[in-house]
Amino acid sequence: MHPDLMKRFDLTGRSALVTGGARGIGLEIARTLRMAGASLTLADLDLDATRKAAANVGPDVGAFRCDVTDPQSVRDLAAAIGPCLDILVNNAGVGREGLTRETSDEDWRFVISVNLDGVFYCCRTFGAAMAERGSGNIVNIGSMCGFIVTKPQNGPAYHASKAGVHMLTKTFACKWALSGVRVNAVAPGYIPTKMTSSPGDDISTWVELTPMGRLGRTEEIANVVQFLASDASSYMTGAVLNVDGGYTSW
Ligand code: NDP
Repeated sequence: MHPDLMKRFDLTGRSALVTGGARGIGLEIARTLRMAGASLTLADLDLDATRKAAANVGPDVGAFRCDVTDPQSVRDLAAAIGPCLDILVNNAGVGREGLTRETSDEDWRFVISVNLDGVFYCCRTFGAAMAERGSGNIVNIGSMCGFIVTKPQNGPAYHASKAGVHMLTKTFACKWALSGVRVNAVAPGYIPTKMTSSPGDDISTWVELTPMGRLGRTEEIANVVQFLASDASSYMTGAVLNVDGGYTSW
């Protein structure tokens, strides 16, 4: 590839934070941003697991405990690593209710607090510092569930939270567009991770409903995050990109 083209995708010298980075899609995003040259911090609930994941990504990768549902925990993280990042990836997320049973008060609060409150608190804290400095880049992990109701599995809190993430993306994109901060989102389809897969799961319906005829891989999400985090997407803000093998296109 021509070096000038490579430069557009290069993240050398940029600082990045990935929430929920200890495993799954977040860990793959961390690996990819690191390969693109970014200096990285991972934040997650389980500090030991986060440290192990960070060591796996690279010797100089930071690891912190942060509960994104707690605004003080997010502020403490900002105080520890410095609020002025170049790249924030809001990836931490949960999904535990299904469509076939009642969503309890506890399920509702749990899913909304991680998936929606968490993105809001992190955008507010780190995005405001980016806007004050005049540059920065935020990538939120939404979901195809923010666009459609997926038949086999997901419940109201998950769908509502991810639709909310898409709208938070657009709201913050408009708020900070003149301050040099871009805010975009990726909306993955079904990606086998600990969140979505248990041994013995029947994934055949998901595969059948996916036009490409297969599930996605974590790196296929991470590649798009890297594009959005780089200068290659310099005229994009407020975008929510489907990365779902065509699932939402039927
Ligand atoms: P995983 O469950 O594998 O990873 C999620 C990570 O987030 C875990 O390490 C988890 O920690 C962490 N986490 C959970 N709650 C918090 C919190 N309060 N504060 C900080 N970290 C937290 O999930 P995936 O990798 O599959 O999902 C990553 C993102 O992608 C999520 O936002 C998810 O909604 C989204 N997504 C995933 C899809 C898929 O098919 N996998 C499809 C569409 C979207 P712990 O284990 O300690 O709880």
